Amino acid sequence: MQCTPDDATEDLRYQTVLLSLGVIAFGGLVATALHGLERWTHPISLVIPPLTVAAALGQFAYLFGRPGRTRQVIGLSLGWVSLIMLFPEYFFTLEAALSPDKQLIETLPPISSGLFLLTTGMIVFLRPRQLVRLSFLLWLVTAAPVVVYLLLHPLELQSPRGQDLMFALGPAMAVNICFVLFYTRLQDTLDRLALERIYLKESSERDVLTGVFNRRAGEQLLQALESRPDEPFGIILCDIDHFKRINDTHGHAQGDQVLREVASRFQAHLRQGDVLIRWGGEEFVVVVTGKGVDSLKVLAERLRQVIGGEPIGTVGRVTASFGVAQHRPAESRQDLFDRADQALYQAKNLGRNQVVWAGVTP
Ligand code: GH3
Ligand code: MG
Ligand code: MG
Repeated sequence: MQCTPDDATEDLRYQTVLLSLGVIAFGGLVATALHGLERWTHPISLVIPPLTVAAALGQFAYLFGRPGRTRQVIGLSLGWVSLIMLFPEYFFTLEAALSPDKQLIETLPPISSGLFLLTTGMIVFLRPRQLVRLSFLLWLVTAAPVVVYLLLHPLELQSPRGQDLMFALGPAMAVNICFVLFYTRLQDTLDRLALERIYLKESSERDVLTGVFNRRAGEQLLQALESRPDEPFGIILCDIDHFKRINDTHGHAQGDQVLREVASRFQAHLRQGDVLIRWGGEEFVVVVTGKGVDSLKVLAERLRQVIGGEPIGTVGRVTASFGVAQHRPAESRQDLFDRADQALYQAKNLGRNQVVWAGVTP
């Protein structure tokens, strides 16, 4: 199966989330061990790291081997990481603001880098529509308590930790958000280009008038089938009878309408895997894979009946002639086509509106 750009992005997202969960679990383990060695640790610091390890490992196990769950895990992870990061930030800031004997620069755990990651993850993974406004809001929610506290406590702000916190949560986080926004915009552009590429590829393979595959796509398909000797296939060549007369009598636009209707009737009667190609003018080719000689003949006969069975608009009854050939081992596609073409020629000579088989396969 061909790997589309979208598949590749999903795969990358899955791997990134797995890796991040692994790293978070490892970081949580290290923090748990370090806090265990300290003589006195705040109860919050004793609870949060082991909880982080449990949550990260649990989600790692839930996601491993199931890439389809990636988006669900991203949503959940961002939820609990927000709690783990924002809860202590608000708690310690409020505690320091309310108790004159406590200083935030002494009590706040080293979570500023975690807050950085949280905002980055939110913007990269959620990519909401109103990205700029929401990013600004996220920055306010994340940075505001500590920044406001430090501005109101200049003595703490002048300490090295105070200045470091102010720098990290103020200008550094704002610049980081700008970078991430730039990256996500770039990602949007890449997504659009990938879609455009798919669209262009699709339209370069389609016939503009009927929407079925064009000759170029048909040639490619036959070339691919030719190089696969184990895949039996056959072709049905179809040429509308007296089409020039239809154009002359009813006009070119009506002629076009007949071509569209024929393609649509064929399409409705073909099975999945049969490929309909407009070879040129009023000629169509059906490539049929994996079927025996008899079903090829039956299919051609059915296609003949679906054209002639019902009149087409004001043009009335339209018929077509068919030449059918089954690919022989080691036969070139040109030889296969020549045989089918001769069969079609015979069908025309025998009075049109019929199917002629191009000989018995050895
Ligand atoms: P026969 O029964 O022997 O096949 O006769 P015919 O008139 O169908 O064969 P011929 O090859 O002489 O005529 C084909 C006509 O198809 C000539 C051309 O003007 C017309 N044609 C080719 N492409 C288009 C198209 O896209 N739209 C329309 N309306 N006519 C087309
Ligand atoms: Mg013709
Ligand atoms: Mg014709």
